[in-house]
Amino acid sequence: LSKEQFSIDDLLAKLAENCEPLMQGKAIEFTVINRSSDDGLHGNGDALLGVLINLVANAVEAVGGEGSICVVVDQPEHQYLDISVSDDGPGISGDVRERIFEPFFTTRSNGTGLGLAIADYVVKAHFGQIWCESEQGYGATFRIRLPLCPGGT
Ligand code: ADP
Ligand code: MG
Repeated sequence: LSKEQFSIDDLLAKLAENCEPLMQGKAIEFTVINRSSDDGLHGNGDALLGVLINLVANAVEAVGGEGSICVVVDQPEHQYLDISVSDDGPGISGDVRERIFEPFFTTRSNGTGLGLAIADYVVKAHFGQIWCESEQGYGATFRIRLPLCPGGT
């Protein structure tokens, strides 16, 4: 994966633009917040944008016709950045949650089961981590943690 310096605000603007059509005609409240103090990120912006679009698309599927979806960029420590995508859909049960990052694992009749497997691949190529926090009945949060100086470069 090729990497370059890119702006987080640009990434979030592209995300909002790409996700708007997914929510058309639905009562979904979509919020994007950037709480990071650094605007620059080193990585593959297109690949990360694809990952985030997929997470939001999953959230849209999860909430159905109405709900709220929130994307937050945060910098809890200066060495890394967290990007989370949260929804207030049905959440994910423990046995399903164990398998969601497996290629071809899907619970949807028209799903490919590749979205989260690709997300895991792209995040690892950035020396980061992705995980899911969910309590069934209380929505789901997918969090991506990216080191700001991967490999010390
Ligand atoms: P697909 O979207 O094609 O099913 P993914 O890899 O994107 O494949 O997701 C795998 C599975 O993870 C989904 O089929 C669904 O069961 C579960 N999942 C992903 N995101 C959410 C979410 N936000 N809420 C509930 N379940 C989810
Ligand atoms: Mg998907």
